[in-house]
Amino acid sequence: MMMLTKKMIEIRSLLQTVGQSESLTLPSIVVIGSQSSGKSSVLEAIVGHEFLPKGSNMVTRRPIELTLVNTPEAHAEYGEFPALGLGKMTDFSQVQKTLTDLNLAVPVQDCVSDDPIQLRIYSPNVPDLSLIDLPGYIQVTGRDQPPELKQKIADLCEKYIKTPNIILAISAADVDLANSTALRASRKIDPRGERTIGVITKMDLVDAGRGVELLSDRKYALRLGYVGVVCRVPSTASGPKLFNRGSGNISNAINKNESAYFSSHSEFDPENNLEVGTKKLKTKLMHVLEQTMASSLKTTSEAIQRELAEATYEYKVQYNERPLSAESYLAESLDGFKHSFRQFSEDFGRPQVRELLKHELDQQVLNLLAQRYWNKPFDDLSIPFPETDPLASLPKADPEGENQIWQIKLDSSSAALTKLGVGRLATSVVANSLQAQIDRLVSNSRFAAHPFARQAITEASTSILKDLSYDISDELEICIKPYKYRIEVEDNEWARGRENVTNVLKEELKVCEGAFKRLEDNIGGRRKAKDVMSFIDRVRNGQVVLEGDGIGGAGGFSALLLQKGREAVFLRDRLDVLKLRLLAVKSKQCASTKNKYHCPEVFLDAVADKLTTTADLFLDAELLSKFYYLFPRELDSRLGRNLSQTEIDRFAGEDPKIRRHLDVVRRKELLEHVLKEMEGLRQLEAREKRFSARS
Ligand code: GDP
Repeated sequence: MMMLTKKMIEIRSLLQTVGQSESLTLPSIVVIGSQSSGKSSVLEAIVGHEFLPKGSNMVTRRPIELTLVNTPEAHAEYGEFPALGLGKMTDFSQVQKTLTDLNLAVPVQDCVSDDPIQLRIYSPNVPDLSLIDLPGYIQVTGRDQPPELKQKIADLCEKYIKTPNIILAISAADVDLANSTALRASRKIDPRGERTIGVITKMDLVDAGRGVELLSDRKYALRLGYVGVVCRVPSTASGPKLFNRGSGNISNAINKNESAYFSSHSEFDPENNLEVGTKKLKTKLMHVLEQTMASSLKTTSEAIQRELAEATYEYKVQYNERPLSAESYLAESLDGFKHSFRQFSEDFGRPQVRELLKHELDQQVLNLLAQRYWNKPFDDLSIPFPETDPLASLPKADPEGENQIWQIKLDSSSAALTKLGVGRLATSVVANSLQAQIDRLVSNSRFAAHPFARQAITEASTSILKDLSYDISDELEICIKPYKYRIEVEDNEWARGRENVTNVLKEELKVCEGAFKRLEDNIGGRRKAKDVMSFIDRVRNGQVVLEGDGIGGAGGFSALLLQKGREAVFLRDRLDVLKLRLLAVKSKQCASTKNKYHCPEVFLDAVADKLTTTADLFLDAELLSKFYYLFPRELDSRLGRNLSQTEIDRFAGEDPKIRRHLDVVRRKELLEHVLKEMEGLRQLEAREKRFSARS
C-alpha cells in the first residue's frame, strides 16, 4: 500500500513542474502552529534530524515544501534542494544553514514570501511523506518587526490549508486549546474537522489527567483525532552538542524519552485508546496522506486530462504538431549556421584575400606618395608657400643620373613600403575581415536572437584567429623579407602597375572631388568657398598677416569658416596634384621602367603588387584553410557536445517563440507521462481494494 504514496509523491513533484494550476496539485500535509508551539520539534522528530532554522527572531519566512523519501536499501541519509543544484547534503547542519540563508534572503519589508523552498530528505528512517512547513503564527508583533507581519503570516497559512491538503495543527499542551491559533485557523476553513489532525506537543509539561482531557477534546472534534507527543530532545542525549550540530539521528533519543514518559503514566495505556507518541504520529500521517491521495486520484486525473486536452489543442493549432526539443532546436540551428559558413568559405578564397590586401596596400602607397612626393607644407598657415614647387620638376624626363635625389627618394619610399610590417598588417586585415564575416553570418542566423550562443561563436572565431595570427604574421614577414633588399620590376609588371595605379588615382580623384564638393556646400556654396580659399592663399603667400593664427576669425571669416577653408585648400591642391600625376602616369614618359624614378606611383604599385602576391598565397594556405578547418570543430565543441542540459534549455528559452513552443511540447509530454502513471496507480489501488475485500 505504501507504494501508492511514494508514487503519488513523485507525481506531485512532477505536477509542480508543469505549472501553477491549482487543480493540478495532489494533497500534502500542511503544518501550522504558533511560534514556540513545538512545530519545529515535531517536524525534526519525524525526520530524525535537526535541520530547521532556529533563533529567537522569526526565521521561517518562506514555506518549506518538504518531501520525505523512504530509501529502505540505503544507509545514507541526506537532504537535497532540487532547485538550487547544491547536490546531496549528508550534514544536516548544512541543510539548516541553507534554509536559514534562504529565509534571510527575504527582505524584511516583505515580511514573508509565498515562494516555497523545495527540500527533499532521503533516508531509510523517514516515511514517504509530503509536508509543508509554514511560518509560525505570532501573537504580538515584536518591536523590530513590521506591523503587518501577523496578518501576512495568517494569510499565507490560509492559502496553504485549502483542500485537498491535510492540516496538521500543532498546539502546546500548556496552552489552553481555545487559545490555539492553529486550531482556530483550521476551524475557520475546515469547520467540520474533516481533514485536520491535531497534535498536542509538550505533553510532559501538564499532568497526565489534563493531557488525557486535551487528547479527547470534544469542543473541536476532529475526525482524524488528536495525537499527543513529547518531542523535546532530552538534554542528556544531546549531550556535548552531539545532536545540536545535526550530525546524528535523534529519533532514538526522542523515542526513548517519549516512551519513558507515556509508559510511566497509566492514563496513556493502550486500552484507553489514546493516540500518543511520535511513532504513532508518523504512521497516522502516512495513513491519512495515502487515503487523501487515493481519494483525490480521480479528480486530479480528470484535471490532468483537461489540461492535457488544452495542451494538445494548442500544440495542434499553434504549432501544427511540429515536434521540438531544446536539443533538436540547437542542433538544427548549429547545422544551419555551419551550412552558411561552408557557403561563405567557398566564396571567400585567395582572389578575395588578394583584393582586400591590394586595396589596403594601395592606401599605403597613396599615403607614402602624399608624404614623400606630393607634399606641400601648406597645412600650417604661418609657413609661407615655397617658391619652388618640388613637383614642378617631377613629370619631366630625367636624363640618367642627372638628379640623384629622385633615385634616393624612390629607394627609400620602396623600402618604407616593404618595411611597414606587411606581415602583421596583411594578417590582421584578413583576420578582421573573417571576423566581420562571422559576425554578419551570426546576425543573419537563428543565433541572432541568442546572446549566449552569439558570444560563444564570437569567442570561438576570435580565439582561433588570434592563435593563428600570432605565428602567421611572423612567418609572412619572413616570406617578404627578400623584397626589403632589392626589387626588380619587369616590363609586364610595370605595365600592370601602370594600369592599376591609374585606376587608383582616378578613384582617389573621385573621392577627393566628392569631399571637396561637400565641403563647398558646407561652407555655403562655390562662391563663398572661393572667397575663403583665396583669403587663405593670400595668408599663405604672406600678403596678409594673421593675428593669433586667426583663432578668433580673420578677414571677415569666422574661425570655423577659416578651418573649413583650410580643408578646402588642402583638397583643392590635392586635386591639382592628382590630376597632374594622372596625366604624368598616362604620358609616354611613364610607359616603361626607364623613367621609373619619375614615375614613383607606378613603381610603388608594382612593389605593392609583389607583396600582395606573396601575402595572399601565404594567407590563403595558412590562415584561411586552417580557419575553415578549425572553426566548425570549435563550434561543435562550444555549442555541441560540451553543453549541459541546463545550458541547452537556457539557450532554447532565449527565443520567446521557441520557448512557448517548447513549453507546450514539454507540458504535453509531462502530462501524458503523469496521466499514464496515474492510470497505473488507479489500477494498483483497485487491485489492493479487491485484495483487502477478499481477505
Ligand atoms: P516552534 O517555534 O513552534 O518551532 O517551537 P520549537 O520546536 O522550537 O519549540 C519551542 C520550545 O519548546 C523549544 O525550547 C523546545 O525545546 C520546547 N519543546 C518542544 N517540544 C517540547 C516537548 O515536547 N516538551 C518540552 N518540555 N519542551 C518542548
